[in-house]
Amino acid sequence: SEVRENLTYEKFGGAIRELAQTIADDGYEPDVVLSIARGGVFVAGGLAYALDCKNIHLVNVEFYTGVGTTLEMPVMLAPVPNAIDFSNKKVLIADDVADTGKTLKLVHDFCLDHVAEVRSAVIYEKSHSLVKCEYVWKRTDEWINFPWSVEPPVVRRDGQVLDA
Ligand code: 5GP
Repeated sequence: SEVRENLTYEKFGGAIRELAQTIADDGYEPDVVLSIARGGVFVAGGLAYALDCKNIHLVNVEFYTGVGTTLEMPVMLAPVPNAIDFSNKKVLIADDVADTGKTLKLVHDFCLDHVAEVRSAVIYEKSHSLVKCEYVWKRTDEWINFPWSVEPPVVRRDGQVLDA
């Protein structure tokens, strides 16, 4: 039997308020919240409201498995955020979890080249993560069930699959 960290939508509401309070207490006032789709979109929306930040951007990141190699590298999918949108801005990257940290590192390094300041906020950070986020709600090394991905996609009542 495997231990899992189980985040419910109910717990998520409190987690976001606490995470936002930590950011506010630290005096960081982002101009832009940059979410990493898809899980980070929930986090970014909650933080942007709680921090009274009206500017949300989104970046799609997907893992690419190279042919004939076991290396797994995340890649930013088009459209990549416009650098002009970020110049001289204070950016808060928002994601659900820093696990290996590769996804956050990719987006963080992209931002470093373009923005005034960048910090990262996640609900969970695992101890082996290669990036240490400035703002973390909870540390765990368990597999996390997130409320938005714990259930499979809905199916049509007539049994047709959604993408057919
Ligand atoms: P990374 O390893 O780059 O930090 O995480 C990449 C992505 O893998 C995360 O954004 C998340 O979507 C997924 N992921 C990593 N660890 C977990 C986990 O414990 N539970 C779930 N549901 N997804 C995870």
